[in-house]
Amino acid sequence: MLNFTVGPVMSSDMVCAIGQEQVPYFRTSEFSELMLECERLLKKFAGAHDNARSLFITGSGTASMEAAVMNVFTPQDKVLVVNGGSFGHRFVELCHIHDVPCVSIDLELGHPLTATHLEPYENQGFTGFLVNKHETSTGVHYDMQLISDFCKRNGLFLVVDAISSFLADPFNMQELDAQVMITGSQKALACPPGISVMVLSPKAVERINGNNVRSMYFDLKDALKNGERGQTPFTPAVGIIRQIHARLKEIDANGGVDAEVARTAALARDFRSKIADLPFELFTDCLSNAVTSLHPLNASAHQIFLTLKDEYGIWICPNGGDLKDRVFRVGHIGCLTPEDNTTLVNAMADMHRRGLL
Ligand SMILES: *Cc1c(COP(=O)(O)O)cnc(C)c1O
Repeated sequence: MLNFTVGPVMSSDMVCAIGQEQVPYFRTSEFSELMLECERLLKKFAGAHDNARSLFITGSGTASMEAAVMNVFTPQDKVLVVNGGSFGHRFVELCHIHDVPCVSIDLELGHPLTATHLEPYENQGFTGFLVNKHETSTGVHYDMQLISDFCKRNGLFLVVDAISSFLADPFNMQELDAQVMITGSQKALACPPGISVMVLSPKAVERINGNNVRSMYFDLKDALKNGERGQTPFTPAVGIIRQIHARLKEIDANGGVDAEVARTAALARDFRSKIADLPFELFTDCLSNAVTSLHPLNASAHQIFLTLKDEYGIWICPNGGDLKDRVFRVGHIGCLTPEDNTTLVNAMADMHRRGLL
């Protein structure tokens, strides 16, 4: 299998090997140690404050998006949401479900957020801001400096879904004054799906502890308390946490988050240069290192996805909805190499020769 989707992505042999082992009992000092080391490394890679905390939610990325909305906002808040695709739309829906008043900044698909979009919302009594740093559905990577400056100026509590860009693009919670950062096990962490991670600033921890959440599983107060000793209130996906632990330690040993971001950036550049002669257009000018979203000029994007899967054994990422035939995405996260890029580009060139793109 050669998998260029945006998650689940290719895992290293080391991560796969852990997946073959028996899953150990977890109410032990050994597992607590492992959890605390995961927390320490995640905080370090996210540029979080020493007193920040990180939590492991057993659930996909959306579970942490929902937990964030439920635990840090209330019906007294007024939240701005950047809605540039299906993940932005998900934050809008979550605000509606949990009675958090919100205004959605609707962007044209594939277009970036600009200062002009934010201007009408200066000094309008907003209290929070929700953004998917990289709107994976279209491949648009937002200007976080612009967003951070706006939030600082207006005193907004900034929650960042960095699910697909954490470890792929530069990100520093303290510099951006972001209060919550979310990621998931099956994106650049390159582990199986099942765990999402939240990194919480001291201010976020304070909000959570003062908030009354009507849920057992998603009330994070208990998770924070248990986490102090490296435990969780309920049985976590123990096996995946062990894989995340190994992966975080490997990144740390290989030069840390900057080296990992540089490796991903180089892989993305390599792919983008290799497709220069193929009949594709970039779907956006504001790409993340995690994904290249492409608009094929002569063929259906969905058909290209199917042909690569069925005839070449290579997975790229299809789009849904209105973009189904117009856009496909190629991921650069996970255990991929420049040689893998060549294999994919050769298959695309072969399809081109056959008149299939
Ligand atoms: C993958 C992803 C999610 C979460 O999706 P799940 O299927 O719940 O893991 C959320 N936001 C972004 C930006 C993503 O890329």
